[in-house]
Amino acid sequence: MNGRHPMDSRVANELGAGFYNALSDAVGTQRCDDTPHHARTLLANRGFDPPEIEKFVAYFREHGGGCDCEILMNCDWLFDSELVSEGQVQ
Ligand SMILES: [Zn+2]
Repeated sequence: MNGRHPMDSRVANELGAGFYNALSDAVGTQRCDDTPHHARTLLANRGFDPPEIEKFVAYFREHGGGCDCEILMNCDWLFDSELVSEGQVQ
């Protein structure tokens, strides 16, 4: 998991810890249904249009995040660790 992809900082900047925390809440309360369903909803709520959303979903999948819980487990490194800790992720 070394070697940050150039898009990583873009993902972190555009989504930030708020996205990670919101996704964590969604999975915690509503469970993962083995799709990036909550991630898509959160992206739509943030005003991304469908092509942008699919770009993020594809990016998460490429990095081991094929569904919501996998995004949390495998893509947390995408989000700035300082931002994430400010957001009080356990
Ligand atoms: Zn899952």
